[in-house]
This record gives sequence, structure tokens and C-alpha cells, in this order.
Amino acid sequence: MINMSKEATRMPMQDPVVRKQNFDEAALGYTEDMAIREAMRCLRCRKHPCQTDGCPVHNNIPEFIAKVSEGEFDEAYRILRETTSLPAVCGRVCPQYLQCEGKCVRAKTGRPVAIGALERFVADYHRENAGNDIEKENTDNGKKVAVIGSGPAGIACAGDLLDLDYRVTVFEKEKVLGGVLAYGIPEFRLPKDILEKEIEGLYAKGVKAETEKALGRDFSVDDLLDSLGFDAVFIANGAGRAVRLGIPGQEADGVVSASDFLEKINLEKKLPEAKNIAIVGGGNVAMDACRCAARIPGAEKVMIIYRRSEKEMPADPKELKEAADEGVEVMYLTAPVAVEIKDNRAAGLKCVKMQLSDPDESGRRKPVAIPDSEFTVEADLIIEAIGSGSDNDSVKGVDSDLKGYFTADPETGMTSRPGVFAGGDTVTGPKTVISAMGAGKRAAKAIDRYLLSV
Ligand SMILES: Cc1cc2nc3c(=O)[nH]c(=O)nc-3n(C[C@H](O)[C@H](O)[C@H](O)COP(=O)(O)OP(=O)(O)OC[C@H]3O[C@@H](n4cnc5c(N)ncnc54)[C@H](O)[C@@H]3O)c2cc1C
Repeated sequence: MINMSKEATRMPMQDPVVRKQNFDEAALGYTEDMAIREAMRCLRCRKHPCQTDGCPVHNNIPEFIAKVSEGEFDEAYRILRETTSLPAVCGRVCPQYLQCEGKCVRAKTGRPVAIGALERFVADYHRENAGNDIEKENTDNGKKVAVIGSGPAGIACAGDLLDLDYRVTVFEKEKVLGGVLAYGIPEFRLPKDILEKEIEGLYAKGVKAETEKALGRDFSVDDLLDSLGFDAVFIANGAGRAVRLGIPGQEADGVVSASDFLEKINLEKKLPEAKNIAIVGGGNVAMDACRCAARIPGAEKVMIIYRRSEKEMPADPKELKEAADEGVEVMYLTAPVAVEIKDNRAAGLKCVKMQLSDPDESGRRKPVAIPDSEFTVEADLIIEAIGSGSDNDSVKGVDSDLKGYFTADPETGMTSRPGVFAGGDTVTGPKTVISAMGAGKRAAKAIDRYLLSV
């Protein structure tokens, strides 16, 4: 029987006042009854655009939801795992409002089916009740593949190659595996034990991991293919170079990139001391940074400084609301022009008011400064969250585009160099977890085809 409620089943959350004081997961997940009730809202429509147009990896959404509505949670998990390696992660962090839920037919007359919440429920149910599953022992086909970087693209590619019996070594620049999932996205959105389970799964399949080993610094692609004896390489080193504000005073103490700020919190569990915190930017990185800033004991004011209006803001509206509930304020149509410094430390951010003119190359209306509208906000911590770019300068012998991203076939990840594949943000520029994971899975298939043919 279909549940015709126009409202989606609400996921319980920690109270904003309580959650501001901890880093525990803010959203608490569905119970079995809630999941079944929500799954029964799915109309099982014939065209299922959620799957065909909405999901970048074409998860079989109608089928897995049908199984949830029947209480067949293990079967639902099996269906999801046919196309996704990271359902517990994607259920939590995918921008479903732009993807599957954005295409849900129910959204025409009410709220879409909460597909992300259901994916998360199924993955959590499986993890809590069935543990990690190693579907198949690696029997070693004698060929070696190097995977550079252990974010979603690297994890997905390594996992699928291990299933195909390759010997896989992951080389990771940082101390821990996981990429942005480990050091970017905070615990209150993605608890680290979920990621650790995924990584444990890779170890159980026989992956070899070399941490604190960076391509371009400690070894080259030539080393991998020649002296180290790898048969193929998959480069998935992300797009982690922070973009600076480019304003006077940005080198002062107290001005940090969002990636450094989030990394310290995620990996070292260290919160800086600050009272007035300004975060410049309007995307999801800015959201994660401001919500972490709101959790700094002693933080009195946390402000987002964004140069366009709310309509153009790229952040997930749900996260913007959660940030507002946690006390974060947003100054729209405002851009920074200089850091004010006192005793060698940031003390304020001089800003200017903006107005929107015609659309620019991004299709959004271009912000233009209003003359004589300067003002200063007090800020002893200024966090730059205005984007990131390619960090591929040190990688020789693989073609890249003008912005430094590797040029690779979108279907296979094959680069200009035989045996070298690339995928994820290092090819597309900053995108999403699921698009990186999809690139990793496609590359694993292509590497297998390539190695069977040479
Ligand atoms: C703070 C933040 C929040 C985000 N939130 C979301 C979200 O909610 N939903 C969503 O879908 N997407 C989100 N994203 C984007 C998403 O995380 C990325 O698109 C995704 O992680 C890209 O995956 P990847 O595997 O290509 O790269 P990454 O996850 O960046 O992983 C690259 C890995 O390569 C390693 N590496 C880099 N250089 C080298 C080298 N030279 N040698 C060896 N290893 C190297 C890095 O240390 C890293 O581990 C967010 C990004 C950030 C920064």
C-alpha cells in the first residue's frame, strides 16, 4: 500500500543547542518503522527518473526502496551494492536535492521520497547487523595496480580491482586513508567510524597501503611503471589546493584556509581559540567550516560572508538551515577587501557591499561592489572557503588542461599515457563524492580491460 502523505518522514536530529556543544552526528537516522513508512511513499513510477536522470551511478532506487518497504533490508543493501561502494557515506553526504530526490515524481505535489535517508538506513542496518562483507577472496591474478590517493575515487577503484583479483597498493600523501571523507567532512555529518569500516573492508580484501607517500614528492609515475613494477596506475589525488582570498593582510595569523581548519579538527581534534569568526564563501565547504566554528568553545559570533544573494548560494539549503539553527549568521552581498591586523594578528575583515548585475560565465548574476559601502566586521579568525583547485604541477608525463586537471576519457579514465588512468576531482575539478566514486568504479573496469588486452 502506498503512503500518500505529502510530507517525508522526518529524520530525528540532535537539538541544535545540544549539538552545538559536540561533534556527534547531528542527524540520528531512521528507525525500522520510519524507514518502512517512508519507503511506502515511493510510487514505483514506470520511468523512475530518480535512477535514470538523478543518480550519477544509477543506483536501482525503486528496487531497493521496494525491498525496504517489505522489511527486506539485507536484500535492499545487496541491490545498492551492485552500483555503489559507499552507501553509508553517500546516504549522508550526497546532494540528493540536486540528484535523485530532485527528480522524484512525488516532489511535484509534495516532498520527494527521502531517498538519501533510506540509503543511509539500509547501509547502517547492514553494518550494525551483518558487519563487513567480503563477497569474494582475492585470488591474485599476478598483476599489480597502483592507486594514488584514497578519497572516494581511489577507494572505489581499489575495492573493485581487488574484487577482480589484482594486487593493489594505495599510495596516500596523508597519514590516514579516506581523502576529504577523512579530513574534510566533519564528524557531525559523517562519523569517522563509518569511513573506518569501509577502509577495514579494503584491508580485508588485501589492499596494501603506503601512507605519507606522495606522488611527485616521493615517487613518480615512471618509478611506478618501471622500477616498482606496477602494470597500471590510477591517479585520484583530488583537487586540494586552496584558493586564497587575494586581499591585503591575508598572510596574518588568524587567516586560515578551510581545508587546514577542517583538517586540524578532523585529524588532530584541535579547535582554535576564537571569539568572532568570519567564513568567506557560500558552498558546502563554507557550511562545514562555519558549523565547526560554531562549536568552538567561546565563539561569540560566527558569520558567513558571501558576495551574492541566498538565491545564488551553492550550499545545500538543508545545511544552511542547520547552520542557522546553530547560530551562524550570513552576510549576503558582501565581499572582503582587506584583513585588518592588530599586533600581527587578524582583528577584523574590511568588507564592501555588493549588488548583482548581469550573469557571468558561471550563469549566475555577477556581483559588483557598491561604491563607498565599506565597513569592517570584527574577526579574530578568518576562514577562506572560496574554492580549491588542481594540485598536479608536480606530476610529470600526463597531459592536463589549462586549469591543471588531468585530461582523461570520461568513460574509462584513460589519460594521454598508456597504462595511466585518472578520475575524481583531479579530472573534473571539485565535484561530489558520488561522482568521484563513479569515476573510480569505471576506471577499475577500464584498467581490467586494458590489462587483459596488453
Ligand atoms: C569540506 C568539504 C566538504 C564536502 N562535502 C561534500 C558533501 O557533503 N557531499 C559531496 O558529495 N561532496 C562533498 N565534498 C566534495 C567531495 O568530498 C569531493 O568531490 C570528493 O572527495 C572527491 O574525491 P576524490 O577521490 O577525487 O578526491 P579526494 O577526496 O580529495 O581524495 C584525494 C586523495 O589524494 C591524496 N593525495 C593528494 N595528492 C597526493 C599525492 N601527490 N600523492 C598521494 N596522494 C595524494 C589526498 O591526500 C586525498 O586523500 C566536500 C569537499 C570538501 C573539501
